[in-house]
Amino acid sequence: MEPHDTIVIGAGMAGVTCARMLGDAGMRVVVLEGRDRVGGRMHTDRTCGFPADLGASWVHGIEDSPLWDLVRVLGIPTLEYTVGSFQVGGRMMTHFDGDGALMSAAASAQWIADAEAVDRMLVDVIARSFPGETYADVTERALDASGLDAERIDEIREFFRHRVEEQCGAWIGDLDAHGLDEDGIDGDEVIFRRGYDEIPARIAAGLDIRFGEIVTRVSRSASGVRVTTTRGEYSAASVVVTVPLGVLKGGSIAFDPPLPDEVAGPIARLGVGVFNKIFLQFPERFWPEGSYLIRALGEAGERWHSWYDVSAISGIPTLLTFAAGPLGRHMQQLTEDEVVADVLLALRNLYGDAVAQPIAQWVTNWGDDPFSAGSYSHLPTGASHRDHDASSGPVDGVLHFAGEATWGQEPATVGAAYCSGHRAAERVLGRRVDLPAFAAGIVARERTQSR
Ligand SMILES: Cc1cc2nc3c(=O)[nH]c(=O)nc-3n(C[C@H](O)[C@H](O)[C@H](O)COP(=O)(O)OP(=O)(O)OC[C@H]3O[C@@H](n4cnc5c(N)ncnc54)[C@H](O)[C@@H]3O)c2cc1C
Repeated sequence: MEPHDTIVIGAGMAGVTCARMLGDAGMRVVVLEGRDRVGGRMHTDRTCGFPADLGASWVHGIEDSPLWDLVRVLGIPTLEYTVGSFQVGGRMMTHFDGDGALMSAAASAQWIADAEAVDRMLVDVIARSFPGETYADVTERALDASGLDAERIDEIREFFRHRVEEQCGAWIGDLDAHGLDEDGIDGDEVIFRRGYDEIPARIAAGLDIRFGEIVTRVSRSASGVRVTTTRGEYSAASVVVTVPLGVLKGGSIAFDPPLPDEVAGPIARLGVGVFNKIFLQFPERFWPEGSYLIRALGEAGERWHSWYDVSAISGIPTLLTFAAGPLGRHMQQLTEDEVVADVLLALRNLYGDAVAQPIAQWVTNWGDDPFSAGSYSHLPTGASHRDHDASSGPVDGVLHFAGEATWGQEPATVGAAYCSGHRAAERVLGRRVDLPAFAAGIVARERTQSR
């Protein structure tokens, strides 16, 4: 066995960030990664000539964002795309009503104003909610108080349901009333012209990463840690575990001795949702130019409701839609062609025969992937925001956890993974790691290597 100071398990954003920081500090670090690539849930498919981000796409809010600071120092080109399940309105959107009829600009504006008004009421209702109440409970209370007619209430209820599904991958009746408290957006949002996985790939360049090393056991003692994989054993003074919460909950990694309640409790209480993506490329555009999003309300949008125009990235007319929460799980039982046929049915309800057969398609399956076991973490009833940070340890001074689910400020994001990797590195080193210096170091190393 080679001697290492620290073993990092997982080469996603949290893992490569932590490993690089430890390596920069002169530690001997090895990264054990089960897959044959870096990036984890940041995964860009470039086989079709354009970058299709099958995992994360967005930086959700670029103000006061350490992640955005990193993107800027690395000089990575982005595209403003401030829209999504987070925003009721804000950018140009095309709306269809519950019968599948195109809504006028005035009707669209009225719907946005009504939904935003209920959303503001919801903030107060959540603040006064009782422990154990779900997001469905507080939504109903806000809708009851809105004074809107029954049809509008149904549309807004459905919008809130879809928002929970997209942001948490969960059913609205399972999410804690406070489950979206940490999901505020500061500033514009952006997506990536060259693919999001450029970030972990550039951080990881030159690290000692062992691919195909599936970790099955982490043992700890006063003298350090021993990590068992399907191929062998590694030992070190400390270990940073960055595998997704879904993998930890699934129990495929044994901890010896078992994790203490302070860490095992949060892991058990936090939830993991499913959020899948479907990209469809069409021979011709059948939707209007300039609209970020096509959104179907009411019955027309019961299953498939939001289509994002990502043609600017692909150069070919391309729509992205999501299957999240219960629909996301159900979708995983179907074949890819069955899923696409169902999406096309919904689109044809809006645009009729103008919707041609796609020329290319991508359908993800994050819930069934053994290395993610879900898409991202959320807060079911019974869990608290404190559980995220509590799940990071450390345990006995030698076992640390990082990853999106361990960062309470904005869990379920790339930014959370980045910050959690930074925190783990600081804990292992026992001192501060300067983020601007870290980012500048990546660029300096690239310059030296390209000479
Ligand atoms: C479809 C989808 C869309 C998303 N959209 C966005 C978005 O737009 N914006 C945003 O900010 N966030 C988004 N996210 C969330 C974001 O991708 C994650 O929060 C972030 O990438 C998690 O990074 P991580 O390092 O914590 O975990 P991961 O990236 O999952 O890294 C963990 C690593 O551990 C490895 N691993 C797992 N088990 C083992 C094992 N037993 N042995 C060894 N290695 C193992 C995995 O292969 C993986 O490489 C999205 C996620 C999904 C799935």
